[in-house]
Amino acid sequence: MALAKYFVRAATAASQILQGFDPKDFEDLLNDLVIGIAFDEQACATEGRASLDLLVRLVARLYPTICLLPSGEEAKKLAKNLASLARSINEDITIARRGSSALSHCLVVGSTNPEISCPKFFLGSDGWIAKFSPEEPVGTAGSNNAFGAGAAACIAASNLFRHIFRDQIPGATVDKAVTFSLFDYAPGSRANPPLSDTALDDLFLLGLGAIGNGAVWALSRVPHLQGHLQVVDGEQVDQGNLQRYVLALERDIGQSKVKLAWRYLKAQRNLTIDGHSARWQTLPIIRSMQHVAVALDTAADRIAVQGTLPRWTINSWTQRGDLGVSHHGFEGEMACLACLYIPNGTVPDEDQVIAEALGLEDRKIDIVRPMLHDGAPVSEELMRDIASRLTVPVEPLLQFVDQPLRNLYRGAICGGVVFELTAGSKPVRVEVPMAFQSAMAGIMLAGEIIKQAAGNAPDWTTAKLNLLRNIPSDIVTERRKKDRLGRCICQDEDYLDVYRAKYQAPEVGGFGKK
Ligand SMILES: [Zn+2]
Repeated sequence: MALAKYFVRAATAASQILQGFDPKDFEDLLNDLVIGIAFDEQACATEGRASLDLLVRLVARLYPTICLLPSGEEAKKLAKNLASLARSINEDITIARRGSSALSHCLVVGSTNPEISCPKFFLGSDGWIAKFSPEEPVGTAGSNNAFGAGAAACIAASNLFRHIFRDQIPGATVDKAVTFSLFDYAPGSRANPPLSDTALDDLFLLGLGAIGNGAVWALSRVPHLQGHLQVVDGEQVDQGNLQRYVLALERDIGQSKVKLAWRYLKAQRNLTIDGHSARWQTLPIIRSMQHVAVALDTAADRIAVQGTLPRWTINSWTQRGDLGVSHHGFEGEMACLACLYIPNGTVPDEDQVIAEALGLEDRKIDIVRPMLHDGAPVSEELMRDIASRLTVPVEPLLQFVDQPLRNLYRGAICGGVVFELTAGSKPVRVEVPMAFQSAMAGIMLAGEIIKQAAGNAPDWTTAKLNLLRNIPSDIVTERRKKDRLGRCICQDEDYLDVYRAKYQAPEVGGFGKK
């Protein structure tokens, strides 16, 4: 069996988006696939290498058998590195020899068009522009900008997934020719300025989860990044994280997420990096944060970040239906970060989601909410109650006794323990994105960081897309005004006074560079 040890997490994620999901069928189908990755000498330059690196980081987490098809001497050397990368992501992966088994699908990078009869997915890039076609090679350009290349890998991985599971994703089809600029996200845009030397102005990156991993992957590849970056996350990598953390290898399990990020970022010799292996809320330094990139999980966290009154924030998310990035100041008419996350009654709050997932709907107010608030540990008695409510044996859940309720939720529900115990028969309502979704959000976040640092702040608030659908041919950006009902802290004079005092001279529009 060559499926990754963390396969159950991938199955949990897939069960969220595939109709009529059956874990056994899902596993059998994956085991029958042989995913080829073909590339030539053109793909051995910076952009092509970036696409191939991320492609392997995405594909090796889910598919148990891959086959590398290099063409040319340099490509053959690169194939050795990619094979070893794939094995460090899933040590049980099968790397099939060319010609030993029929390919089911083939991803192609560069200008080559291998003579293979299976469906082919051509990806490539030109600076900020990601390219994809199911018909013909799209080529990789020779710039040192990896943003289009990384996005192309995510788009290709999403097309591969949509094609394989097309009968189980309503309305999903493979994209026709895609040209997608990460510079401005405008339909048909050819906007593609060269990357100049960029300096980060004491930027905080909060959260090194799946999106943070994608962001660090991209930031580590920006040429000559300078300035000061502070990365913050208090957690360690666990096995389930391997399902979609593009930076993480199997040997990283147990490693702090900050150290994992640092291993990649240290390639930026002119960038000063401070790592904080702590929950961001506990750091005294957050009071002075001015520039913040947000890759956190919850609405409550985002509202709290806005409450520290940064000069500006760049936010990123994955959620059911879309992924994206948003830009925020605090003054002016445009939405602050908190405006976007004020509970509006249609999105269930965290209390509700966790209460439902644990079968504790009737105990939401007296048990779930206080326990989430104060981080109280789960007693064995409560665990037995939860197991009986979920009709699963309690033994596999006992490992979560004495841990906070949120850990139980994330480990047992999101992590797939309950899913596995019920053989997938109990629908689990969780948000576990696919790897290509989180990576795309992270690359977009990094792109916004670099554009902002270079003085290219956008005039839109949000940019979003859904990788389970075709890449849109219309506008994906949107301007968002402040909360319609005037409920936000950015509409509160006391907060505004503190904000203005923090920055002395207020800025028109509340958004821009220092
Ligand atoms: Zn607001």
